Order: sequence, then C-alpha cells, then structure tokens
Amino acid sequence: MDSRSVRKAFLDFFESKQHKIVPSAPLVVKNDPTLMFINSGMAPFKDIFLGVSPVKFPRVADTQKCLRVSGKHNDLEEVGIDTYHHTMFEMLGNWSFGDYFKKEAIEWAWELLTDVYKLPKDRLYVTVFEGDAKENLAPDNDAKEIWKKYISEDRILYGNKKDNFWEMGDQGPCGPCSEIHIDLRTEEERAQQDGKELVNNDHPQVVEIWNNVFMEFNRKADGSLEKLPAQHVDTGMGFERLCMALQGKRSNYDTDVFQPMIQFIASQCGIPYGKEEKTDIAMRVMADHIRAISFTITDGQLPSNTGAGYVIRRILRRAVRYAYTFLNLKEPFLYKLVALLADQFEGVFNELKEQKSFVEKVVKEEEASFLRTLAGGIQRFEKYVQGLELLPEHLSLIGQKINEGAQSRIGGEFAFELYDTNGFPIDLTQLLAREIGLTVDMEGFNKALTQQKERSRAATAIDTGDWVLVGTDKETEFLGYDQLEAEVQILKYRKI
Ligand code: ATP
Ligand code: MG
Ligand code: MG
Ligand code: MG
Repeated sequence: MDSRSVRKAFLDFFESKQHKIVPSAPLVVKNDPTLMFINSGMAPFKDIFLGVSPVKFPRVADTQKCLRVSGKHNDLEEVGIDTYHHTMFEMLGNWSFGDYFKKEAIEWAWELLTDVYKLPKDRLYVTVFEGDAKENLAPDNDAKEIWKKYISEDRILYGNKKDNFWEMGDQGPCGPCSEIHIDLRTEEERAQQDGKELVNNDHPQVVEIWNNVFMEFNRKADGSLEKLPAQHVDTGMGFERLCMALQGKRSNYDTDVFQPMIQFIASQCGIPYGKEEKTDIAMRVMADHIRAISFTITDGQLPSNTGAGYVIRRILRRAVRYAYTFLNLKEPFLYKLVALLADQFEGVFNELKEQKSFVEKVVKEEEASFLRTLAGGIQRFEKYVQGLELLPEHLSLIGQKINEGAQSRIGGEFAFELYDTNGFPIDLTQLLAREIGLTVDMEGFNKALTQQKERSRAATAIDTGDWVLVGTDKETEFLGYDQLEAEVQILKYRKI
C-alpha cells in the first residue's frame, strides 16, 4: 500500500463514520504563548476542548502537520539516529467533541487497523492508564474492559503517567490515553526475547503507532487539574510509522515517504544508502529536516535569530553540518529537495507546490550563508579539542594519542565564540561534542550569552529577524481550516 493510499484509507474510513474531514492547520502557531508549533493533531482544536470555541462539527478527522523540536515534546535528538522519530511528521487523527467516547474510539481504531489495513492481530499490543494516586486519578479500567472485547488480556498493559496520560504542554487539555503498539520484530528477534513485555521503546522494532486520548481535564497554570466541560476523544496516529508497518519495512525511512529523497541524496553525493551508519544517518537527517524547514516556511515562519525563527535556523544548520561533514556536500544542496517534496505533497499539502520557488530561495540563501562560516567553525572546534587534556576514552574516539589529563568538557566561552562568530547554534556544538564523547559547559555558555545580550541591549540587532518584507507576490486563499479560517499571502522577503 503506497503512502497516498494509506492516508486516503484513514480519511475515507472516518468519513464513513460521519466525520468531517478538515485540512491540516498551519504548523506555526502565532497567538499562543504556550506553544510555538503545532505538536499534535489536537493542538488546533485546543479552544474547542476548553469550551472556548463553539463545536461546528462534533466529529472531525484529518492529517495534521506536526513539529516536535521544542517545548514539552522535543524529539530532535532522536531524529535520524532512531528510525521512527521525526521533526516534522503527519499525525492522522479523529476527534469527538463531546460526542462519542471510549467505546466507539476503541472499536473503530481496532476495525481500521485489523479490517481495513489488515495488520496482524497477534502483533498488536495496547496500553491503558494505570492511574496516579498523587493526582487522584483512577486507573482506566473502562478502557481495559472495552479492549478485552478485541484483544486478549495479556496484550493489554498498564502504563504510567509519562506514557499514558497525555498533555499538550505544561498547560492545556489533557487526559488518560490508550496506546496501540506494533511488534515488527522478526521471528528470530521474538524468540530471543520471548515472554518479555515490549512497549515504549524497549526494542526499536516494537513501535507505538496510535494514541487514543480521552480528554477530560485541563491542566491549569498553577499545575492543578480541572474537569473540562465535556468528555472528548482525541486520537493521533503516526502516519510514517503506519506506512512502515503496512509496507513491511523496519524503518520509516525505508518507506515511500522518505526513499525518493534519500535516493536522490545518495545519487547526488555518490554514496549509496545502506553503506555505512554515519552516512546513512546524515541522509536521514537531511531528508527529515528539509520537511520541517519547508513546511514551516510555507506556513509563515522564516528562519531568523529569535524565537520560532531560530528553531528553524538551528534545524537547517544541523542538516547542513551533517551534509558537509559526512557527505562532503560543500555547496548549498538541501534546497534541491524542495521540488521532490512539493510533488510528493501535491494534493495533500498544496502550499508547498504553491510556494516552491520562494522556499527554495530561502533555504538556498540560508545554506549559503551558513556554509560561509561552517568550515572555519569546524576547524576551530577541532583545534580546540586537540588542545584539551582529554580522558583516554575520549582520545580513542578522536584517534589522538593518550595524554593522561582530565578535561572532558568544551568550555562555555569557547562554545559562545562559535555561536557568535561562526553561527553555531549551541545544540550544534553540543552535537559535535557528543560525537566525541564530550559535553559542553552550558552554564558558561549561558553566562557569556547573557553578558552579550546586556552589552547589546541598546542595539536591538540580535533581537530582530533578518529577513525583511519587500512586497507581496500574489494572494491565495488558504482553503479554510473550518474553525480557524485564515488567509495566506505569498510574501516576498529579502535577507538583510
Ligand atoms: P513516542 O513514545 O514514540 O515518542 P509519543 O507517545 O510521544 O510517541 P504521542 O504524543 O502519543 O507520541 O503522539 C501520537 C502518535 O504520533 C504516536 O503514537 C506516534 O505514532 C506519532 N509520533 C509521535 N512522535 C513522533 C515523531 N517524533 N515522529 C513521528 N511520529 C511520531
Ligand atoms: Mg514522544
Ligand atoms: Mg509514547
Ligand atoms: Mg504516545
């Protein structure tokens, strides 16, 4: 089943259950101080859950662009290293706003997975919330009783608050959840670990695919829970993970969602995918990050030096450094992937096709400007590391001769210099450090950063974006997100 058919089958299924299919909301959140980017399918519906916005359709389904690179849900460090966490991913979701509850949600989830997608029943596990005494939350035995109609009891596991009580952020709607995991291990792998319960990251081939949240509470600013005015269902299924399961792959990156980009990168740099772990990771990171970068730009956030814009710039620089160091790509390259993505998402997220040349231009320009300082920064970093008195275990990682010293940290002042003169976001320096088993003195870095901010408080230069609006190209109507109708203009920017 190709990925387009997987997505369509989901939406068709819930349409047949009287759900209104709505388009994805933009990734970028402009007016919520608790959230920078949409991190889950429910986030755009937050006000409906809270009872602030009216319910237009009691049942809704969609595929929502999500980004998990900041705040409560941040998966950036796993990306490319593991095979199923992305920065930007699609979350397939169905909702009940005060309409159906656990019984239907569970019944339909099971029907879709096993009747429509025909996933093998003996490869599925589910979890339910075990309760939490401190917060006075009872175990979700209702969900367990419903699941027992479909799946044997030994495949229903209790999970703790971390995994089975879903919260959007530090504040906002939340509730107990029931997750569905799929066991994609080979028979051999299963035999080796037989008898062991495997969910929630115990094995890379046992993967969480779908979360069914029963929204009943609101987490308030003071940390307490209050009951929402009504009970709702909020579900989220990882589209790329589902494609992996349905296409019989062991990695999301082996599906048709990522392979066109990975094969393009491999052919352009002359290194086959699958040859070596390091180059594979670099290709995966690039294929992943360009999606996050492209869709945040189309959805209204340009890379910049502050806030959400800096998150995007950091992701872009991270990708450029992987390409530069491991694939020997020394010229702007990522922008070439935008056209592939635009084709792939035609008819799904058309905004990329519509803004393709603009996105290419921004990405290329950003790559070019970072490539001007990257080589110098890497050299400085290497020189600095050679000057450190390192522990033997670190020396073996960088192939240096052993010198019985004891320093294992990159100094904060030095990390700040890399940030200030070479444009290295701190997490990039941390990544370079981690690759050779070192850490960065973050206290020192933050101190240097604060000092600089104080110095330049009067001159606001570092607190402003560096793309300025120079005009409007054309206007397109964003085909309304039902509750949040918005107009998107295609704007022309110039870098200053
Ligand atoms: P995990 O435990 O794997 O990190 P999660 O519990 O954080 O996932 P949820 O918040 O429950 O994820 O989101 C619902 C679904 O979205 C998950 O079941 C999973 O299929 C998918 N998902 C979550 N995070 C990612 C990600 N970073 N990349 C791809 N899919 C994801
Ligand atoms: Mg997670
Ligand atoms: Mg989880
Ligand atoms: Mg989950």
